[in-house]
Amino acid sequence: MRVAIAGGGLAGLACGKYLVDAGHTPIVLESRDVLGGLVAAWKDEDGDWYETGLHAFFGAYPNMLQLLDELGISDRLQWKEHALIFNQPEKPGTYSYFKVPDIPAPFHVLTSIATSNDMLTWYQKFRFALGLWPAVVRGQQYVEDMDKYSLLEWLRRQGVDERVNTDIFVAASKALTFINPEDVSATIPLTAMNRFLQERYGSKIAFLDGSPTERLCQPIADYVTNGGGEIRMNAPLKEIVLNPDGTVQHFLLRGLNGQPDEILTADIYVSAMPVDVLKVLMPTQWKEIPFFQKLEGLEGVPVINLHLWFDRKLTNIDHLLFSRSDLLSVYADMSITCKEYADPDRSMLELVLAPAKDWIDKSDEEIINATMEELKKLFPQHLAGENPAKLRKYKVVKTPRSVYTSSPGRQAHRPDQKTPISNFYLAGSYTMQRYLGSMEGAVLSGKLAAQAIANSLSSAHTSASATLSEKPLAAV
Ligand SMILES: Cc1cc2nc3c(=O)[nH]c(=O)nc-3n(C[C@H](O)[C@H](O)[C@H](O)COP(=O)(O)OP(=O)(O)OC[C@H]3O[C@@H](n4cnc5c(N)ncnc54)[C@H](O)[C@@H]3O)c2cc1C
Repeated sequence: MRVAIAGGGLAGLACGKYLVDAGHTPIVLESRDVLGGLVAAWKDEDGDWYETGLHAFFGAYPNMLQLLDELGISDRLQWKEHALIFNQPEKPGTYSYFKVPDIPAPFHVLTSIATSNDMLTWYQKFRFALGLWPAVVRGQQYVEDMDKYSLLEWLRRQGVDERVNTDIFVAASKALTFINPEDVSATIPLTAMNRFLQERYGSKIAFLDGSPTERLCQPIADYVTNGGGEIRMNAPLKEIVLNPDGTVQHFLLRGLNGQPDEILTADIYVSAMPVDVLKVLMPTQWKEIPFFQKLEGLEGVPVINLHLWFDRKLTNIDHLLFSRSDLLSVYADMSITCKEYADPDRSMLELVLAPAKDWIDKSDEEIINATMEELKKLFPQHLAGENPAKLRKYKVVKTPRSVYTSSPGRQAHRPDQKTPISNFYLAGSYTMQRYLGSMEGAVLSGKLAAQAIANSLSSAHTSASATLSEKPLAAV
């Protein structure tokens, strides 16, 4: 069966991959000239990579890890020491470590909290561990139920000390969702904490060894084309054209560079586009349907990704760092953490600026000036004294609408991959799956969409879903 998939991010690509496995023919339609969506990357005039986002992979990403394994590229993940590392704003240039020992879950995380240096008193650690306990014993259902609270409300209800919020959860919330604890649903950080508590290597972090476009998306695209599918770049969906009964008749693709629009017909159609784009392209007839109406409650959150190339090394830490700065979220020296970006003598800091709503309309110069002021606090020895390190060049990548804004109550708005329209499916990290707006969530959503399609076709036609359901069901 021919399946047209609009969107060549991780969700669309994963959907294509698993449809190939199920014996179908996906046609992935990407509007831009680069694959990857929120993981897309480009080379600048010097041959240096810059990216839509600084991306960390976690041990608790079973579907991503399985996908890499199936593609034979698991060795492209560069695993780091099992620890979470935070800057200490009150002691510039120093770090707090949560080192996670190699002992069974959940004692590994609880021990890392107990033995962390500098940040919390014993009483604060005890209250923190006690507050987390319901998530350990009551699991994901409890975590889902907490969607009614903001993270800050939840911490207060659990009697967790305010210091835990300011010292840990502001950083965690900004890193996971690009918004602050007073704005984020408690479900989001609790989902991550729950995975970290339940899985021995869940919080272990890896970086890809090069650009996500080349090292992650291209192998998926190759798999799709080798399996008989198609990947079409510069192929933006313009309109979802319906039959009188409300099912999809065809996709209308916008003709670029003076070319006419093109009709693309298939047996099944998938939107793997961002939710904001889908809302704009939603056919009028579907807007009455409650399933699609609830998408109105979802909206992408702004975020900015920064790259700063310096004339010397600013750090030797081979890891993701939580900046704990008001302006910035996580960062890494990619000249150390990522093989293809390696430079033995000079740092390239990649940093996420979040929350970004007050910055998204500012000029690159204003953003970089503010970032350099923050960096003086993180690296006073290199940037604040005499003979400071020089900024050789920078790149600012703004995404006004990235992953869905995960404020309280959003879980009820996240749609299933199967829609009420018999030949139309959804994929995307905003759709309902247990891994939030992440790469893992995108891959899982694509797999679930492929699975739903294969199941519906197999009940109608063949037993084509057999190969597909054996592998992913174990991992989902
Ligand atoms: C700064 C930043 C940092 C991040 N850090 C992490 C991290 O550390 N770990 C992690 O797991 N996740 C992280 N994420 C989240 C992760 O990148 C996303 O959740 C995931 O990549 C989303 O994939 P997707 O396929 O669902 O959507 P998208 O990547 O948005 O893909 C949608 C695709 O649809 C295409 N499209 C749009 N309109 C059309 C159209 N009309 N026709 C055809 N195609 C169209 C787009 O070009 C895009 O390629 C980060 C994201 C950002 C922005």
